[in-house]
Amino acid sequence: MSIADIFNKNRTVYSFEVFPPKRTSPIETIIETLDGLKGLNPDFISVTYGAGGNPADRSTCEIASIIKNKYNIEPVAHLTCVQNSRSDILAILDDFREKKIENIMALRGDIIPGRSPKTDFKYASDLVEFIRKQGGFHISGACYPEGHVESKDLIDDIHNLKKKVDAGAQHLVSQLFFDNSAFYSFLERARIAGINVPIEAGIMPVLNKKQIERMVSMTAASLPAKFTKMISKYEHHPEALRDAGIAYAVDQIVDLISNGVDGIHLYTMNNPLVARRITECISSLIAV
Ligand code: FAD
Repeated sequence: MSIADIFNKNRTVYSFEVFPPKRTSPIETIIETLDGLKGLNPDFISVTYGAGGNPADRSTCEIASIIKNKYNIEPVAHLTCVQNSRSDILAILDDFREKKIENIMALRGDIIPGRSPKTDFKYASDLVEFIRKQGGFHISGACYPEGHVESKDLIDDIHNLKKKVDAGAQHLVSQLFFDNSAFYSFLERARIAGINVPIEAGIMPVLNKKQIERMVSMTAASLPAKFTKMISKYEHHPEALRDAGIAYAVDQIVDLISNGVDGIHLYTMNNPLVARRITECISSLIAV
């Protein structure tokens, strides 16, 4: 099923992200995660690309196929172009076709210091256009409510996002954020710029202080006072911080759904317990 059909159902779409196990772990470890997510009924599950920094990551396709065939859930396979040439991408698209993967999240990927990027695709929009020209795939892309870390400013970032949508991205998933007002301002900028595809809000529950420091350094997400107070109060109490993080994510999601967002994309971090607790709190809201 194409992701476009999921958005035609006239209710809030609810989806998950998982990542492949590290190269040193067997692929079976993802089965435990997927078993744990059983029964939560996400509309789709996306699988990241580039496990453990591996630019030739074939596990994404394999895991997407498992999600489709063993769990009967629609998968979205992520694909980055920063370390892939045109012929690499064509080979990966062949793999996707063979495994009947219909939905791709097309990304540039992060530029790793000391590793020169390949030059066939400069931006995600180049990859989006290339995949669109091959035909047969629904294409999603990433967006950044508080701006991508490399972008000049928020307006420039929106112009670049518009190029990605014009190139063929049919659906966008946002970077994590902890301040819903940043997401609403972004939505307004995007709609004014004529970006009319469905935009899902990416929500990452906080589980520990290290994770948050890493995420904030990578994304420059702003931290509301309510959030920083929560972290400092519970940073030395892992269970309490996890519970507070779940409650914070639920609070964000309730507000987002009440404000009519197109969808919620939960970064599960391969943690079924957390995904389950959040889903139990909000499943009746999504059904309405
Ligand atoms: P782009 O859309 O190309 O944007 C990158 C930068 O270039 C931005 O600053 C943008 O403003 C600018 N830009 C874009 N187009 C133009 C243009 N035409 N002219 C001038 N400037 C331009 N990384 C992984 O390695 N694997 C994953 O699976 C993965 N999944 C992700 C999923 C989501 C939902 C998100 C939000 C991010 C994900 N990432 C993943 C991280 C992502 O690869 C990085 O954020 C990367 O730095 C940018 O990728 P992009 O596709 O957004 O790039």
